[in-house]
Amino acid sequence: MTTDQDPRATGSTTDVCVIGGGPAGLTLALLLLRSGVRVTLVERATSMSREYRGEILQPGGLALLDQLGVLEPAAARGGYWLDGFQLVERERVLLDIAYDRLPAPYNRLLSVPQRHVLAELLDRCHGFGGFRYLDGHRLSALVEEDGAVRGAVAEGRAGTHTVRAGWVVGADGRFSKTRRLAGIGADRQDVFAFDVLWFKLPQEEPPGRHVRVFRAAGRPVLVYPSYPGTVQLGWTLPHKGYAEMATLGVDRIRSEIARAVPAYADRLARHVNALSDFTLLDVFAGRAREWVRDGLVLIGDSAHTHSPLGAQGINLALQDAALLHPVLVEALRDGDFSAGRLDAYALPRSRDIDQVMKTQTMQAKAMLSQGRVARVVRPRLAGLVQRTPIGPKITRHIALGNPAARVRSDLFAPG
Ligand SMILES: Cc1cc2nc3c(=O)[nH]c(=O)nc-3n(C[C@H](O)[C@H](O)[C@H](O)COP(=O)(O)OP(=O)(O)OC[C@H]3O[C@@H](n4cnc5c(N)ncnc54)[C@H](O)[C@@H]3O)c2cc1C
Repeated sequence: MTTDQDPRATGSTTDVCVIGGGPAGLTLALLLLRSGVRVTLVERATSMSREYRGEILQPGGLALLDQLGVLEPAAARGGYWLDGFQLVERERVLLDIAYDRLPAPYNRLLSVPQRHVLAELLDRCHGFGGFRYLDGHRLSALVEEDGAVRGAVAEGRAGTHTVRAGWVVGADGRFSKTRRLAGIGADRQDVFAFDVLWFKLPQEEPPGRHVRVFRAAGRPVLVYPSYPGTVQLGWTLPHKGYAEMATLGVDRIRSEIARAVPAYADRLARHVNALSDFTLLDVFAGRAREWVRDGLVLIGDSAHTHSPLGAQGINLALQDAALLHPVLVEALRDGDFSAGRLDAYALPRSRDIDQVMKTQTMQAKAMLSQGRVARVVRPRLAGLVQRTPIGPKITRHIALGNPAARVRSDLFAPG
């Protein structure tokens, strides 16, 4: 369809227009397509190599990807299976969150480049006639009529494309344009006293089996094997403290990090030469004030953003998609595009997210806080978690998220 006004402006109609092809958007797109729903997905990137993003997958998310037939091929592209989390103080393992206590087969973590998972999800979406992929397109406006969202406008190199849809799903990440265009405020909670400076070093030993938080001299460092053949390190620094630190120069930062993880000091000296070797993650928790409007729903990071501690973001994004899927399919079947129709998703999910945020704040305090009191209390706390039923309970919560989140294959169209 071409409009009279602008020959470069085109348009189309679909059932659901998803903005953002990250874990949340692509998973929801695939679930809907399999249920016979037409989906247009607007993604600003043109390749799968996005900026550095999370790559640790939790068992809850692994189960969903497996049910979608995506886990095995994504892992076969390359990744590392891990046994759990460890808090290591100096040379001593203070806390060992072992995943082998969880029910098999989802009793491990997977460190996998996000592009492996996204590519597999996208390949499957392309198998459906009702799928349209507008990559290289950025959301620029929402189509609104009588206070309800009725579609989205996407700007690409070739011009503007207007997608009219029953529902628009904002899955465009922590700085969501969908959320901003809808005028939905987000509460940013700077509850974490740290930001993270991420960087990779070559693996010079067999890949480790854990995500570790190392505490020695200086500030804590997160370490895990990252495919292919690298170690991902995340040095925690005071929240908002990077600008000041950067003025001290790369040598100074490198020696601070080396103090915290002396085992990597040589490699740091050989491979980290410029501030541009670091990626700064501004750590905050955030939450959109509303997740649903008439014709609009926000999921994944656009609705709720989390700290990287405990690797929750991807898991939650995948579970959002799985939990929204049946509610959206039913609303579409009834031709109901009112916000209230999605309360069955938004209200219980909001309680899940509250719980995750509380747990992450607690984890940050227990694992990363500095100071004398923290140093004395931490080993006792770790011992308590390790020896009592609290440990398995926290492990299940972090690893599985909401156990009710599963793929509703009974809603899939035959064939
Ligand atoms: C440095 C870092 C490390 C992390 N580590 C972990 C980890 O180890 N484990 C974990 O579980 N989580 C981790 N997270 C969080 C995790 O990456 C996110 O929670 C997860 O990717 C959220 O998925 P999403 O689909 O909601 O959003 P995103 O993955 O952010 O995807 C959003 C998509 O929308 C697209 N987009 C954005 N704006 C527009 C627009 N205007 N128009 C069209 N498309 C648009 C983007 O290109 C992107 O593809 C980390 C995050 C960061 C930043």
